[in-house]
Amino acid sequence: MPARLPLEIRFESIGGLGANLAAQLLAETLVLRQGLNASQFSSYGSEKKGTPVKAFIRVAKANRPIRVTSPITQPNVLAVFHEALLSRGATLAGLRPDGVLVLNAPVASTPTLPKGRALLVDAMAIAVEEKTRLNTAMLGAVANACSLIDAKALAATLEEHFGKRSAKLAEANVKTFWRGYQEAVERIVREGPPVPSPEVMNPAPRWGYLTAPIGGMILDVGNSVVNDLSASRQGFAPKLDLSRCNHCGICDLVCPDYCLVWDAKDVMAAMTPDGIEWEREAVRLLGIDYQFCKGCLRCVESCPSGAMTKEREGPWVQTARVPLCREETT
Ligand code: SF4
Ligand code: SF4
Repeated sequence: MPARLPLEIRFESIGGLGANLAAQLLAETLVLRQGLNASQFSSYGSEKKGTPVKAFIRVAKANRPIRVTSPITQPNVLAVFHEALLSRGATLAGLRPDGVLVLNAPVASTPTLPKGRALLVDAMAIAVEEKTRLNTAMLGAVANACSLIDAKALAATLEEHFGKRSAKLAEANVKTFWRGYQEAVERIVREGPPVPSPEVMNPAPRWGYLTAPIGGMILDVGNSVVNDLSASRQGFAPKLDLSRCNHCGICDLVCPDYCLVWDAKDVMAAMTPDGIEWEREAVRLLGIDYQFCKGCLRCVESCPSGAMTKEREGPWVQTARVPLCREETT
């Protein structure tokens, strides 16, 4: 369930989580091991970590040609590789009422889900424990959600694919797959927000040749205030222990996204070895704005005092966030 053909599957992910590879391996299984007809392609922008990625798989009977090559706008199975993607309206767009949503989220969490059938799997936790990537855990949950997929055949494809690199890697990924399959928890949502219509995936351009501003003026300038990079993190985030921080600023030098928040108004007082008291304005690290932190952990690697540590991501991230864009109070 859903097992009817034709079947359309859409993966919603971000660069670096392996959705494209997962879709390829699933399509390969359906065609080469299950004797079905399938087509697969992905859609991504600049091919860098953190940018949105969509992968599409169409499945039909072996004797039915698949002539449609456009993105899947009304999937029967929709797999969301990162919970933070739910904040984007287009992520759930077009999910069929009798379809199934597979979401990477802690199974005890309570994300806002649309009405219908959903499977929650903590693919990130499984991947961290097995030292793999979460894409194979997600494939396990997708196989659980959709009885058309032969889970043993898909596991065999994974074993063959990863086995070309090493037997250990193959074993870890097959284990990750089966854990994703077994640890996925079904949730029937009786009340929830409506699924956004498929049109939100491709909004009409605001400006056409009749309405474009004269002279190519930019009326809506871009900025980073609403940008949210939390979907880019892959299970870990830097944690700051201010009691160990000497405010040296090295973390700020290496951070590619300027998400460390400083206060320049503090006054630092000290005494020189020969007893001369002095004080001056000093910059002090206040914390991290996790909205802009993509979890590259360069700050952790560079911190000389051990004040920055690598921690498993959790609700503490929101509590510890120090907003970079603050309203001036003075
Ligand atoms: S590198 Fe470490 S010690 Fe230096 S400011 Fe950053 S957190 Fe503090
Ligand atoms: S992990 Fe550290 S260096 Fe990387 S984006 Fe976040 S704060 Fe910046």
